[in-house]
Amino acid sequence: MSLLEVRDLDVTFSTNDGTVRAVNKISFDLEAGETLAIVGESGSGKSQAVFAIMGLLADNGSTSGSVLFHGEELTHLNDTQLNKIRANDMAMIFQDPMTSLNPYMRVRDQMSEVLQLHKGMSKSEAYNACVSMLEAVKLPDATSVINRFPHECSGGMRQRIMIAMSLLCQPKLLIADEPTTALDVTVQAQIMALLRRVQDDFGTAIILITHDLGVVAGSCEKTLVMYGGRILEYATTKEIFAAPSHPYTRGLLSAVPRLDTETDELVTIPGNPPNMMELPAGCPFAPRCEFAKDICHAEMPELVAHGDHEGLRACHLSLEELS
Ligand code: SF4
Repeated sequence: MSLLEVRDLDVTFSTNDGTVRAVNKISFDLEAGETLAIVGESGSGKSQAVFAIMGLLADNGSTSGSVLFHGEELTHLNDTQLNKIRANDMAMIFQDPMTSLNPYMRVRDQMSEVLQLHKGMSKSEAYNACVSMLEAVKLPDATSVINRFPHECSGGMRQRIMIAMSLLCQPKLLIADEPTTALDVTVQAQIMALLRRVQDDFGTAIILITHDLGVVAGSCEKTLVMYGGRILEYATTKEIFAAPSHPYTRGLLSAVPRLDTETDELVTIPGNPPNMMELPAGCPFAPRCEFAKDICHAEMPELVAHGDHEGLRACHLSLEELS
């Protein structure tokens, strides 16, 4: 059994303007200690998919489908049961750590509180464990930083504090939602290296959500490409980079800036993502796809294996037709 098994997960939001279909029938597995990247443009449904998995949707959101975590069906649990799992077995880090860190509490107090509350540690035991965790995430001068308020720390420091805090209860699953977007490139690389080390040291499975395929290379075993709330390609990261088989994945990859080409032109995918209140009947990428045929506008392709590839993709056309 996989650590996480998501089946036919739907997420919708009721709004005054209509129903937003943010996630549509997505299914995937995550093994213990594995890293999965979920990539796609803003509004593709990647963040809402993980919020649904964590049971953290906004009040107007609802889900259907199945989320099996460590053998337990999460969609059947009440808030108290979910809180217990979120405190001990699942953790999430966000793009802006200030959304999670309490600006009025010193780092030591908010970190220690987690261990005192969920692990029954004394104040001094919790303090020592927090310093050790800050050192484990390579925060320089941990004994000094732990006494600061969040605003007295740099963006990179705050992200390390957030990662340390999320690991205090040694979760089986860590979800990182655009964890490096707000950081400069050097710190970005350090945080990605840190997440890789966390995985090696603690055996934590990681879901990394990003709009940037460049961040994924070398960090994740598998990649799931989302668009219009659907999975369009799901394969090993190696296969995605070596032989992307979906027109949208190819578009995302060609939009990653490269230093080894002569052109300094930035490549973009023409057109805009779909309106999630009025999703097309067929392939959601059809209005932007240079290969679209009549069937693409009429029927949503299934996510299936193709040719010699191990991965899955949702496209009506064969690889030959796309070449
Ligand atoms: Fe393009 Fe059609 Fe494939 Fe969609 S199904 S990606 S529109 S070729």
